[in-house]
Amino acid sequence: MLITNISDCLTGTLGEGERFQGAIRIEGQRIAEMGALTPRPGEDVLDARGCAVIPGLVNTHHHLNQSLLKAVPKGMNLPLDPWLMHVPYTWWPHFDEATYRTAVRVGLAELVLTGATTVAEHHYVFAESYDYNPSDVFFEEAGKLGIRAVMARGGMTRGRAFDDPAIPPAPCETLETFLSEAEKTALKWADTGELAMRKVALAPTTPTFNVTPEELREIARFGREKGLMLHAHLSENENYARFTLEKYGKRPVEWLATQDWLGRDVWFAHLVDLEPFEVDLLAQTGTGMAHCPNANARLGSGVAPADALHAKGGKVSLGVDGAAANEAADMGALLFSAFTLHRATKGVGSVRAEQVLHWASAGGAKVLDMPGIGTLAPGMAADLAILDLSAPRNLGLHDRALAPVITGGLAVRDLFVGGKRILADGKLPGLDLAELADEAMEATETLKSRQHNTVLEAV
Ligand SMILES: [Zn+2]
Repeated sequence: MLITNISDCLTGTLGEGERFQGAIRIEGQRIAEMGALTPRPGEDVLDARGCAVIPGLVNTHHHLNQSLLKAVPKGMNLPLDPWLMHVPYTWWPHFDEATYRTAVRVGLAELVLTGATTVAEHHYVFAESYDYNPSDVFFEEAGKLGIRAVMARGGMTRGRAFDDPAIPPAPCETLETFLSEAEKTALKWADTGELAMRKVALAPTTPTFNVTPEELREIARFGREKGLMLHAHLSENENYARFTLEKYGKRPVEWLATQDWLGRDVWFAHLVDLEPFEVDLLAQTGTGMAHCPNANARLGSGVAPADALHAKGGKVSLGVDGAAANEAADMGALLFSAFTLHRATKGVGSVRAEQVLHWASAGGAKVLDMPGIGTLAPGMAADLAILDLSAPRNLGLHDRALAPVITGGLAVRDLFVGGKRILADGKLPGLDLAELADEAMEATETLKSRQHNTVLEAV
């Protein structure tokens, strides 16, 4: 396959090689050549004239079950902690395999339609009442669409006390179950190599609240022994620091350094409330950030110092986070938020559009330790998006290569993962979006009636 007439392309790298014009030849799973290339006899040719081309986007933090928990009225105007209580921790018991599978389909479809070629799903509800395995459902659905999939296998040994009898107790597991189930998932699904399609990470929901320090160290030891990365939420708001300062006399990042929880194999979602010395610690240890600007804005949590971490040579990536705190899984909206929010709060010098695209591609690959993806260069995986720029929002641009970041929306015409065209002419082969819409409406109503019945039973 030869993609020709590429004139507006950000490659995901920064500095030299940031932009590219010419043609890209795909052979097998990889980019074979880039430059002024002409089609070989019999070669498939895809014309990218008038389009923008970017590397496939990497979403490093998500909760796909929340794809059916958008705009829950009780949570619309609440900050993080009461929102957690009234949305994710109230609604999780209502999911069964069918509703969860629909939620996963909705979230993944939106990701693919907006240019994501890799998703890291942080699922932390593994309840005994569930007669299915969410990890299996996630990998099955990701496989159907052809997107690279990382299961950050979450869980908790201790639920957060929400001090409200109306909130069901959070599903807890023993440490042994958490570790053995995560290992089983990895043995069943994970593959190896720099072009891996599937990975598994150990991801206790929140290290400060949901496991003991001893368990935290054991999770890190186990992960390193088995080659599984570590992931969790951290410092999403100031309550994390309040808790660790009171309990351990240290700020969260500093405290986690003493629990073996910093390093090149660790990434945290959010990291909004950081002191400069914590940013230094993250940069020095190569610990990754999944910057989730949309969810942080929606919940009023603030703007993470992603620019500061980047400036210190740290690893920054982008995550949409769950759709209950974002209302979407839209990579275009994510890029736009990352671009505008830093500039709104810190000035126009805080971030460039090219840098945001880098975070969402090469940055994500670094954070997830997937060295074969994230940039457009010969030898790299052929994960790339061809974007239609014909909509009015993209007309009149003097620098069309920046469109994916600065216009607030993406229209993906074609999407490749490992050389496979998983979106063609804007259509997802094998997924009927009208059917998915019906299925999602029905599943949302099912969840609402289950919650309604729970409330009736409680009174
Ligand atoms: Zn999250």
